[in-house]
Amino acid sequence: MTHLPDEAKNLLDRHRAVTPSWLALYYREPLELTHGEGRHAYGSDGRRYLDFFGGILTTMTAHALPEVTRAVADQAGRILHTSTLYLSTPMVDLAEQIAELSGIPDAKVFFTTSGTEANDAALLLATTYRRSNQVLAMRNSYHGRSFSTIGITGNSSWSPTSLSPLQTLYVHGSVRTRGPFAHLDDAAFIQACTADLEDMLGQVGGPVAALIAEPIQGVGGFTHGPDGLFAAFKPVLDRHGIPWISDEVQTGWGRTGDHFWGWQAHADAGPPDALTFAKGLGNGLSIGGVVARAELMDCLGANSISTFGGSPVTTAGALANLRHLLEHDLQGNARRVGAVLRERIEAGARHLPVVREVRGRGLMLGVELVDRTGEPSAAAAALALEHARDLGLLIGKGGPLGNVLRIAPPLSLTRDEAEQGAELLVQALDRAQKELFSAEEAL
Ligand code: PMP
Repeated sequence: MTHLPDEAKNLLDRHRAVTPSWLALYYREPLELTHGEGRHAYGSDGRRYLDFFGGILTTMTAHALPEVTRAVADQAGRILHTSTLYLSTPMVDLAEQIAELSGIPDAKVFFTTSGTEANDAALLLATTYRRSNQVLAMRNSYHGRSFSTIGITGNSSWSPTSLSPLQTLYVHGSVRTRGPFAHLDDAAFIQACTADLEDMLGQVGGPVAALIAEPIQGVGGFTHGPDGLFAAFKPVLDRHGIPWISDEVQTGWGRTGDHFWGWQAHADAGPPDALTFAKGLGNGLSIGGVVARAELMDCLGANSISTFGGSPVTTAGALANLRHLLEHDLQGNARRVGAVLRERIEAGARHLPVVREVRGRGLMLGVELVDRTGEPSAAAAALALEHARDLGLLIGKGGPLGNVLRIAPPLSLTRDEAEQGAELLVQALDRAQKELFSAEEAL
């Protein structure tokens, strides 16, 4: 355990005095990251960390990627911002590229500054298009922190208010280990979830605006239903004329290795009607957006601009980031190095009863932790997070019960770094287990 130098302590005191009580900070001794390079981040505590969380998946390619830095500096040196009332070459270039990559036919793109705002915009489109404020969302979901996106977040620890402008109906399917269908095999699980959806829609009065779903739930603890779940849902949704919005804020841009978008694991479903993105695209710049079929995108009757969404600086940076990703096949790297990382974590965790499951895809891996009796243990995750930091590894945690470690390094992770990081993680888990189990024994 490090000890906060006076300067850092002072910053922490000032932070606490001036920011809301609900703005959570990681670590008993919170960390300020001052700079980064590649897959490493450096703290004001003077330490170098292997970064397996990338600021919640925002560092998509690498820290301080020179191409992004150059593109941002070049654009900022010419014109910093003009608002979307004027034409902008980088915005149109990026929109064209994303429309093509999305797999959505006849796609149009609207840029925002965050994932929350992207989902908000998608909900505005769907509710307007369908003239309904009823929305289907998945249980255990997270979609953002605005009034409407909190309303469709099925995770009480991230829903500070139950008031919502939307009527939300929650669908089973994203959590394989809890709920009434957990005991079923994959095919029967999909069938049961689909039948439940069909039954619910039979009882709902009036139209439903959309189904919004994360292909792999991020904040929910990197959990997902079986492949083919959304392919089974699609004909049901189609019969009711309900658009499907895929929230790709965490799963987009090749992170899952086998696919560029998370929805492609359910390829039989075809592309969604809309997908939302944010986080990694800007490699740290605040950019998000919605891609949607033109009919859905163009349904708004009044103007709705975003002053900062799609600004020349963020779109120029995002273009450079995306170019790097595609030219270096970082999706392929996520698949290859992700497999090594997973195998190493699984091998190391085999002898650690604190680990219940290693799951996920590509470079989006979840490690679910339990106590001695096999019950979900938030304490184990909190301890592992601290020990990992002590060992020089940054990871995340999540899940509605707070017992899942989230591993999501920049997509340029090398094989050596994967092996190194897995070793540090296993050491952290071992220390956490010792501490937790001996404390439990003492009870
Ligand atoms: N959707 C998902 C799936 C997310 O994980 C997040 C952020 N954790 C959001 C939306 C909201 O994005 P932002 O924090 O950029 O508003």
